[in-house]
Amino acid sequence: MADFTTHYLFGQQVFGALNTQQAALIGPNMDAYNWGQQGPDLLFFRRGAGRLNLPAMGNRLHCGDPDQLFHEMASYVALCKSTASYPVLYAYFMGFICHYCLDRAIHPYVYFVQSRRLAENPKLHPSAAHARLEADIDTKFYELLCHKPVASFHPAKYYPLSPQVVYSVVHLYQRILSILLEENIPERELELCFPQCQRLTRLQYDHFGVNRTVANAADLLSGQHGALSSHVKRPKVHYDVLNLAHQKWHNLWDPGITYTLSVPEIIQGAKEDALTMIEAYRDMLHTGILTSLNLQISFDNGSIKGPTA
Ligand SMILES: [Zn+2]
Repeated sequence: MADFTTHYLFGQQVFGALNTQQAALIGPNMDAYNWGQQGPDLLFFRRGAGRLNLPAMGNRLHCGDPDQLFHEMASYVALCKSTASYPVLYAYFMGFICHYCLDRAIHPYVYFVQSRRLAENPKLHPSAAHARLEADIDTKFYELLCHKPVASFHPAKYYPLSPQVVYSVVHLYQRILSILLEENIPERELELCFPQCQRLTRLQYDHFGVNRTVANAADLLSGQHGALSSHVKRPKVHYDVLNLAHQKWHNLWDPGITYTLSVPEIIQGAKEDALTMIEAYRDMLHTGILTSLNLQISFDNGSIKGPTA
């Protein structure tokens, strides 16, 4: 995943580029669209659900076949066309498309830089190195776009717990997880993803400048280097995490092609992809004829663990 703020900002950029007809369909349900921006990362926040490992299911959705996932999601949204949930599901689904387009575009760069970091410092935990990079991208990208420190971003403002959104998205996930992963998850467990996400993301922004100190202390006590602190956004990042200097990098799955794209350029490309995909699904949902877009690139594109789909 890119991190929380980057996904949110990306959604706003895509929304700003939509035609008026599309914007009118999504605009009234901006909260659902914003939740969609976080894609299956939503499941990462549901810890402590006993034997139900929702974060692992979130991972499986990231690594699985995106074509099948989008087909099942679109089928469910189409099925709900005559219900009160439809406008909410529509906006959520369009946001979810953005999540996919950004994840698959930015992950190869993140995994490349992560692999460099791990080579330089083998003691680093791979997921902490990944989280640190994405948190640093959040700090720098927010600064670049909003000219303010990332701590001034208040996720709860854009991610309210609206009952209609929670209800609709919970039922969508119940369906997806049952069809794709053969997991039957009680409603309540999925509902809890939302407040837990709100609570945990709030801690990442360090509004009072103390969370990083607390997270560092907890990491020291637990002996897990960076496990918590890597998620807390630093107020300042002093290296070129956005690759504005156009250093060379490559997708770990395809080292033969060298890129020099910066993060803002990667994001620009993902935005164009998202606009095309949103338009294609708008047409499909409008006509009721669903076809495959032949999506082959996974959310987890370029993963350090190798292709698992
Ligand atoms: Zn993701």
